[in-house]
Amino acid sequence: MIVKTFNFPVFLDGNCYLVYDENSSEAVLVDCGRGINKINSYCAEHGITVKYVLLTHGHFDHITDGSEWQKRGAKIFVHEADADKLYTQGSLGGRFGLLTNSKHFHADNILKGGERLELCGLEFEVIHTPGHTPGGVCYLADNALFSGDTIFAGSYGRTDFPGGSIDSLVSSAAKLFSIDNARNITVYPGHGPVSNLEYEARNNPVNYVIL
Ligand SMILES: [Zn+2]
Repeated sequence: MIVKTFNFPVFLDGNCYLVYDENSSEAVLVDCGRGINKINSYCAEHGITVKYVLLTHGHFDHITDGSEWQKRGAKIFVHEADADKLYTQGSLGGRFGLLTNSKHFHADNILKGGERLELCGLEFEVIHTPGHTPGGVCYLADNALFSGDTIFAGSYGRTDFPGGSIDSLVSSAAKLFSIDNARNITVYPGHGPVSNLEYEARNNPVNYVIL
């Protein structure tokens, strides 16, 4: 399984991840906050097509290119508790002073958590991890955990946005830290650098939150 990271330093240091099997010409994109042209050039060079977009949550900086990907035939997945964010966020990036040309859209598939999605020859387990948003999910595929804004390398997601809950975030992080074989799992967060799950289970400051 190949994970190609697209990082956007000036856009909140956000990440999109292109995930595919080396023997397949179809790929899954985790989050689509930015970079459709860059990602498409990479895909063209490597002879692959994005078939699915898995959203970790519905905040604008993870969904900006959603309607564009849909136009190109990709099917979008989001958790049911964040589904309305795709078409109700008023000024999207406006409140962060970021220019986005995001258009409202609706997801093609609604998740509840616990699914095992067979996509492009890979299996993605959906783990519901509320806290940063009510419909936050992480995706576990092989030895890769796409952690959205639940945990980052050495930190964790904010819970002061509408629908956020520090109690839920702490339990969600504990759920992630109990995944088997953490030592061999790479964490690919929604912002910033990658990490290792066992390292985060031991060191992430979310473990020291006093509720
Ligand atoms: Zn977020």
